Amino acid sequence: MNNALQGWNDTIVALATPNGMGAIGVIRLSGSQAIEIANTLFPSKNLLQQPSHTLHVGLLKNEEMVLDEVVIALYKAPKSYTGENVVEISCHGANYIQQQIIETLASKGARPAKAGEFTQRAFINGKLDLTQAEAVADLIASNTEASKKTALHNIKGGFSKVLKQLRDELISFSALIELELDFSQEDVTFADKKQLYILLQKAQKTVSELIDSFQLGNVIKQGVSVAIIGKPNAGKSTLLNQLLNEERAIVSAIAGTTRDTVEETLNIKGILFRLIDTAGIRQHTTDEIEKIGVEKSLEKIQTADIILHLFDYTDANLNEVIAQQKSLETLNKTVITLANKTENILEATNIIINQFFPNALFMSAKNGVGITALKNTLYNAVMQPNSIGNEVIVTNARHVAALQKIREGITDILEGLNNEVPGDLLALDIRRCLHFLGEITGQVTNEDQLDYIFSKFCIGK
Ligand code: GDP
Repeated sequence: MNNALQGWNDTIVALATPNGMGAIGVIRLSGSQAIEIANTLFPSKNLLQQPSHTLHVGLLKNEEMVLDEVVIALYKAPKSYTGENVVEISCHGANYIQQQIIETLASKGARPAKAGEFTQRAFINGKLDLTQAEAVADLIASNTEASKKTALHNIKGGFSKVLKQLRDELISFSALIELELDFSQEDVTFADKKQLYILLQKAQKTVSELIDSFQLGNVIKQGVSVAIIGKPNAGKSTLLNQLLNEERAIVSAIAGTTRDTVEETLNIKGILFRLIDTAGIRQHTTDEIEKIGVEKSLEKIQTADIILHLFDYTDANLNEVIAQQKSLETLNKTVITLANKTENILEATNIIINQFFPNALFMSAKNGVGITALKNTLYNAVMQPNSIGNEVIVTNARHVAALQKIREGITDILEGLNNEVPGDLLALDIRRCLHFLGEITGQVTNEDQLDYIFSKFCIGK
């Protein structure tokens, strides 16, 4: 495959576990010299003579200097993660020890690995296709059950399998067309048009389903952004605290957000909800309410996938709330209306609320009433049009872009069929579709693109 990558024959080394102190650290070597290099530091046994998939305990020594007592795992090519000889050294988890071992291995001929280089080698050696390699990165970054499940499904080749099926369908189509081309001189039409249509429509359906799944895929990977808006004193921070108290997510601050827009995250049944710009709500003083003001609310509304519109049910000025609700409804967004402070519902106000906010959820943020219902509503708002079954969910924008190109290609072929376009032109369109399929799996990709994809991995993976 692509062996023009710079120095890909050399042996690379990196810490595979996180930097910093831990009980153990794992240092990984991969390359043709991996076992030889490790062997120079392991006097108690000749590692070169040991079978693959074995563990060896002993001292790691540089000449007379003991580096650490370690466990060495051997994986011989091609039966390893990268497809090359791989050595994993489990050492004690002190930063100092790990660095000393890595430096010594480097002095014996190993080169420090770049981000994602182990997985890149696995890809080059045909151990994974590109979608599986990307799923490895997704798995490492997964922070909910749903994102873990999707990534694992794709590592096991779930997506690759669908793509292969699609490829087979397009190739069968191509074969039928080619057959017709071969005989075209003799003026015989072999390709049964109906059969061609059926094949193409099947392929088109598969592609469309994959494209549509991205909406959910994106939710699984990125989470859903939720804005809590409402007049001052409606109970927004009380609601936020109630939501977070029960379900504080593992990650509470998301990288990449600006300092004054802190995001709190909420994990509801495996889906991540990002409560946007909640810093203002959590830390507000009366002055700050003024500062946050309308502008900030508008900004929040723009970036949100879902808007929680909370109002005080006892508010004397419900007209203002009704106007706000009306303007929210003109936005093309999911708005969940919440009538707060409903501990003591009065008949009269109840009628008004039912009239103007027929779908409002009644709650008492202070007493935690209605929180479960709200969580279910949030979850259903995302999941009802979708579901996470065993089907493939596309989570990668790169894949969607290529799938859209394939869909365009298939549409062109269908039109071509209708317009009696000659078979050789249709064959060109099919080749175009196959090209984009190959881009997804990595069969047709350039080095820059590969470098970009793998650079997003962490070092040691
Ligand atoms: P925010 O300005 O929208 O963030 O509102 P806060 O969360 O600071 O709440 C304003 C006031 O309403 C506080 O005194 C809360 O204790 C009170 N409050 C919040 N939720 C409820 C509720 O469900 N019932 C009642 N009676 N008071 C509430």
